[in-house]
Amino acid sequence: MNVIVVGAGPVGLLLAAELKLAGADALVIEKLDGPSGEPRARGIGPLATEALVRRGLGADLAEHDAKGRADKLRDHGSAKGHFASIFKIDPDVLEEPDRRATLIWQPELEKILLDYARSLDVDIRYGTELTQLHQDADGVIANGLRADYLVGCDGGRSTVRKLAGFEFPGTAPLMTARRVAAQVTGELPPPGRLDNGTLLYGEGMVATFDFGDLDRHDGPVTAAEMQASIRRVAGVDVTVTNVGAGLRFTDHARQVTNYRHGRVLLAGDAAHVHSPNGGQGLNLGLMDAVNLGWKLAGGRTELLDTYNAERHPVGAAVLHNTRAQSALLRPGPHTDALRDIVSDLMDIPEVIRYLGRMMSGLGIRHELPYQVDHPLTGTYCPNLHLTHADGTHGRLSDLTSTGGLLHIGPPEIASTGREDLAAALIRPDGVIAWAAAPGDSLEIPTVARSTWE
Ligand SMILES: Cc1cc2nc3c(=O)[nH]c(=O)nc-3n(C[C@H](O)[C@H](O)[C@H](O)COP(=O)(O)OP(=O)(O)OC[C@H]3O[C@@H](n4cnc5c(N)ncnc54)[C@H](O)[C@@H]3O)c2cc1C
Repeated sequence: MNVIVVGAGPVGLLLAAELKLAGADALVIEKLDGPSGEPRARGIGPLATEALVRRGLGADLAEHDAKGRADKLRDHGSAKGHFASIFKIDPDVLEEPDRRATLIWQPELEKILLDYARSLDVDIRYGTELTQLHQDADGVIANGLRADYLVGCDGGRSTVRKLAGFEFPGTAPLMTARRVAAQVTGELPPPGRLDNGTLLYGEGMVATFDFGDLDRHDGPVTAAEMQASIRRVAGVDVTVTNVGAGLRFTDHARQVTNYRHGRVLLAGDAAHVHSPNGGQGLNLGLMDAVNLGWKLAGGRTELLDTYNAERHPVGAAVLHNTRAQSALLRPGPHTDALRDIVSDLMDIPEVIRYLGRMMSGLGIRHELPYQVDHPLTGTYCPNLHLTHADGTHGRLSDLTSTGGLLHIGPPEIASTGREDLAAALIRPDGVIAWAAAPGDSLEIPTVARSTWE
């Protein structure tokens, strides 16, 4: 099986590695001449963290976490998570506090993934932009290269999505956000929500969430553009100089209707775009990649179709909660009143647990095409503390670096470390395909194995 992956962002790199691990040949083409280095995401959620820990990348991630946490405290003034910039999600109140996000800047994460993909001999060709794409019943032709399948991991403005004719419905933006490294001279009001948006600033950085500008802008953010945005949002005239690296993004929310169109598939931002509120995009995209890699390498259509069936609803749920957050960030007295009420509700621990489950993805339970009663079936398995039959101890992640379907339970595993779990069949993406409680039959139903093999 040969697969062309378009885009060497985090999702493309992880997908290529997962394909390789599952026995497919992956060629990555990337239009940039090297890694982008754009400091977009500042972290990944617990599910993506666990997915990378399963592949032996835990120590590399952990090296960056302390700095990431310190940076977040500096920039947000809070170590807590937020919903619509209401910083009340205390990690210690969550249901499974041990299943934590990793705070790592996107360029550092991409470096880890690039090194990992290269260690698996993935062929990555920088400076190669996809401009042509055709498919027929037997395969795809991209820029003259032929392959069995092609996956677009080429980000929110995906060329693959356009060339292959995917439908991409959704909602238009309510605001344009900008963040630049710059010096600001003049008086600014205190940072926070203002009459026409949100203003944030710190040492050498200024950002706006501007609800008064919905024009499409391309190219780097300029000093004049930033000054005009600050005027709209904060009502003050300041001078912006020394503009360095900057970012511009909106909160439009769109998702393709099906993640597969014949022999062309999409993953990550290419399949879904939404506001970065709550820091969910990267987590979502990386989990697309681990869901897809082994299924595509498996080469069976029924198996491949479970990719869209499982990932589309998860993406839709993220779009839904980011739209709610955009609504809560809109300026005006009605939103102020709604925010007050949501903020009060967030003093209730069960509400924090609900929001935590929703935004981390820990509440996901994939519908499987067969019935197993155990409540963990369809959920992502945590990094269990295992006791082996010889009495030695280890973690689930000690057994998962090479991918593949994994059975844990007697006779090799004496204890899974959980009272509700005697044995389980775990898919390469960490989803529990079958589970048995103590006292249940330990016989794995044939359908549970054959569906995923
Ligand atoms: C300000 C901001 C903050 C964010 N914060 C968070 C956060 O804290 N947590 C989180 O989870 N997410 C966050 N996100 C979202 C996250 O950055 C994205 O979801 C993530 O980058 C998506 O990864 P990707 O690999 O799908 O796409 P991208 O990272 O966009 O990578 C796509 C790659 O494809 C390449 N490409 C494009 N077109 C072509 C072509 N025609 N041919 C070849 N190559 C091509 C591009 O050059 C690029 O390298 C944030 C986003 C922004 C803007």
